[in-house]
Amino acid sequence: MIAGDRCTRACGFCAVSTAKPFALEADEPVRVAEATRRLNLRHVVITAVARDDLADGGAEHFRQTIEAVRSANPGIIVEVLVPDFLDRDESIDAVLAAHPEIFNHNLETVRRLTPAVRSRATYERSLSVLAKVKARRGGRIYTKSGLMLGLGENGGGSRDGDGGFARGAV
Ligand code: SF4
Repeated sequence: MIAGDRCTRACGFCAVSTAKPFALEADEPVRVAEATRRLNLRHVVITAVARDDLADGGAEHFRQTIEAVRSANPGIIVEVLVPDFLDRDESIDAVLAAHPEIFNHNLETVRRLTPAVRSRATYERSLSVLAKVKARRGGRIYTKSGLMLGLGENGGGSRDGDGGFARGAV
């Protein structure tokens, strides 16, 4: 997890501290790259706290970290698990410029429960981020998302339910 251990959001399920973040550490991308090299990783997941205090949400820091990791580990598969960057096009493009193999952004929960579970994030904005990534790469990138189950979903499949994907799992 890059960009510090203080988050500008306060999702109810998350143990990360909500506080004013420290400044980004300019050498962090190189240090992460060195760690992945020493660990001989073939697949790495790079994630971060939400940095709404930064104009780009930390996207440039993601780009630099991906590029440093790839430079130190030829052939490594890079997956990013990013915040929503407030759906800013420039931020999404900055991350994509480093060509991660997998672009992951978690919806965390179903639409109805999002206001109670997530902080500042919206279901629609997260869908928009994923759709933009897919469109910008002409479909030639893996997009990925994660949802927690057991938070009170209604998987009945009716029009008022939370969607068939939850059926049978709750
Ligand atoms: S944005 Fe991410 S790191 Fe921050 S509180 Fe929510 S889940 Fe935790």
